[in-house]
Amino acid sequence: MMSTAETLLEVRDLKMHFTDGGGWFRKNRRTTKAVDGISFDVHAGETLGLVGESGCGKTSTGRCITRTYKPTAGHVRYRAGDGTEVDLAALRPSQLADYRRQIRMIFQDPFSSLNPRMTARNIIAEPLRVNKVASGTELEDRVVELLRKVGLRPEHRHRFPHAFSGGERQRLVIARALSLDPRLVIADEAVSALDVSVRAQILELLVELQHNQGLTYIFISHDLSVVEYLCDRVAVMYVGRIVELGPTDEVFASPRHPYTQALLAAVPQPDPARRNILTQPPLEGEVADAANAPSGCHFHPRCPFAQEICRTESPTLRTTSDGHQVACHFAEQLRLDGLSGDDAGRTADQEVQT
Ligand code: SF4
Repeated sequence: MMSTAETLLEVRDLKMHFTDGGGWFRKNRRTTKAVDGISFDVHAGETLGLVGESGCGKTSTGRCITRTYKPTAGHVRYRAGDGTEVDLAALRPSQLADYRRQIRMIFQDPFSSLNPRMTARNIIAEPLRVNKVASGTELEDRVVELLRKVGLRPEHRHRFPHAFSGGERQRLVIARALSLDPRLVIADEAVSALDVSVRAQILELLVELQHNQGLTYIFISHDLSVVEYLCDRVAVMYVGRIVELGPTDEVFASPRHPYTQALLAAVPQPDPARRNILTQPPLEGEVADAANAPSGCHFHPRCPFAQEICRTESPTLRTTSDGHQVACHFAEQLRLDGLSGDDAGRTADQEVQT
């Protein structure tokens, strides 16, 4: 059973491991643990952010939920539109069609995700036609309605993608994703390829559509300023694991995990009042190789607070006194800097106080 009536999605112990062949006799087989046992809920109507550096497993998580990938292990329990509950991870490909209409994905690059030989009308009409949702006049009316909904002019529906600007193409991608009335939209770096002013317009459109249609979003991004604007809660991932999860404003104001703090330190601050708040230097070193992750806490080679236990024991994700879920042996002892203006001038303790 799901946690609460509002829980739309319940992900439990999800793993996505990729194994390469390793050549003759498979002696050099490598297993990349892109997602390595993560659990989280998504509530109906909320926006959950998945953040982390490239290679942290956030895109693989999204693809397990849409069942682009068949998870190696774990559960993706989804409450469908008719109230029934189903474990998407356990379904056979032939059973997925209904759920693929209810859970849609938007990708980063609108140009490569649109067929350049299809008109805007056909791009939007295709899912409606293939799924036998509408035909004839009703189909044409739906296309016009969807174009209006995303702020495009219906008279432009016979244009090809190259005739639209980058922002308009992303609106087209959103219209196609919405054509089947999804309940959950997974947006993977959906605004990263857009310039700043267009990005703001698309974010506003996503918020407006959420309010008007009761959509639930999982928003995958490496851009924390976008996540701060859009997401109710945020899950921070590092090498296939969630290291911190909580309400976005609380996690950003008072991070409990050193990796979260390091990511926040890299956020450009247009507001002068919020500059130079963070005393932690930007994160150094590369994200660990998921095929050969460090022992214990995967973050320990980059963590300024690492102790001996961090090299040998993997911290579990647990709820701290302020309600965040954090995977750090010293979450309660560390005083880390966040983005809150109230914290200006506060200094991060470089010593772990045990
Ligand atoms: Fe750093 Fe240790 Fe916490 Fe990992 S468990 S984040 S290495 S202090």
